[in-house]
Amino acid sequence: MISAPLRRTGYPVIFLLLAQLAGAQDAVVLRVGTLLDGKGGTRHNVDVVVTGSQISKIGSGEKGKVVDLRKFTVLPGMIDTHVHIGWHFGTDGRYQQRETSQASALGYAVENAYLTLMGGFTTVQSVGAPIDGELRAAINRGILPGPRVLTSLGAISDPSLSVEQIHAAVKKFSADGADLIKIFASKSFRDGGGQTLAKEQIDAACGEAKAQHLRAIVHVYGPDTIKLVSEAGCNSVEHGTLITPEALKFLAERGTYFDPNIGLVAQNYLAHRQNYLGIGNYTEEGMAAMQRSIPLSLSVFKQALQTPKLKIIYGTDAVAGAHGHNVEELIYRVQQGGQNPTDAITSATSLSAESLNLSDRVGTLAAGMQADLIAVDGDPITDITALRRVVFVMKGGKIYKGPGPL
Ligand SMILES: [Zn+2]
Repeated sequence: MISAPLRRTGYPVIFLLLAQLAGAQDAVVLRVGTLLDGKGGTRHNVDVVVTGSQISKIGSGEKGKVVDLRKFTVLPGMIDTHVHIGWHFGTDGRYQQRETSQASALGYAVENAYLTLMGGFTTVQSVGAPIDGELRAAINRGILPGPRVLTSLGAISDPSLSVEQIHAAVKKFSADGADLIKIFASKSFRDGGGQTLAKEQIDAACGEAKAQHLRAIVHVYGPDTIKLVSEAGCNSVEHGTLITPEALKFLAERGTYFDPNIGLVAQNYLAHRQNYLGIGNYTEEGMAAMQRSIPLSLSVFKQALQTPKLKIIYGTDAVAGAHGHNVEELIYRVQQGGQNPTDAITSATSLSAESLNLSDRVGTLAAGMQADLIAVDGDPITDITALRRVVFVMKGGKIYKGPGPL
């Protein structure tokens, strides 16, 4: 016979113990040979314990269902801060700019998401179209394999908008569930890249984004416009192909993120020239501009690496033809740009997570973080191309690719 006070407290204690036992049995133990933590640290022969959706512990000799990853290098799932997840070629092989059927468009977006996840990217920021919201909801339901999707759902780009109209447009994106605001302050590089929005319009867009507690990221090329963007409190500069060393310093001093896209997007347009040519500004001249942008972007990137304290994040600008190849940008940054492999990986993991305000959840391997991690065959520190050989993908504690528990 148990006393009344114990009876009152006894059941919860027993329940807690049972729950802990069940938790221990459910834990998945990733037995890791080499672990890169996403912040520049390396550990050998450790166990990553995954309980539910989270990493509960990194230790050794842990008990649970073991996944043997001792032959591989484990790192955080990579993050791409600039993709266009819905862009695709149609059945005729041509870039499908305007969709006739939203149902068909969602199918392509789902395919792109699948390819992206299998390529080792567990978080992407899509900048952005309304269909991204449907994709985000579908993936969040937990059945379809895809990365975590953040989206702007659209963009502020029309130079004829008044300040009041820009405020209203930002509020509408916010009400519709956008994770961020995307702004075009420059023309396409295929059309010269000149400034399109005036200072008042940039201030209005980024100021209202802040008022809505949303980040603002800006498509922009020239140094003067880039400074306006940074002064307006926008969070990141995308592309920046015509930036100067002085403007790079300006960004570094102000803590504005810099997201150069140097190794995938232009190369992809040129490789798929026939799929794009003749549509919109994908003209011969436009393609020539893309070609010219490659060495320019590379020298800007090298200059950026020489800029102390500049936060260079990882975005590819993946469009139709490039989904699933997001890691090529990273390989290019290391092989052609001369970036240190550890820094390149930090950029594509913890630093990009920080730029998305997600650093308490993803981008680093540590107890309490979401279990978003991948394993690659080889050592990316000595051979960056190992990142192409993704053999294991886990997102939120769920295995999407590779070996399961023994
Ligand atoms: Zn883009």
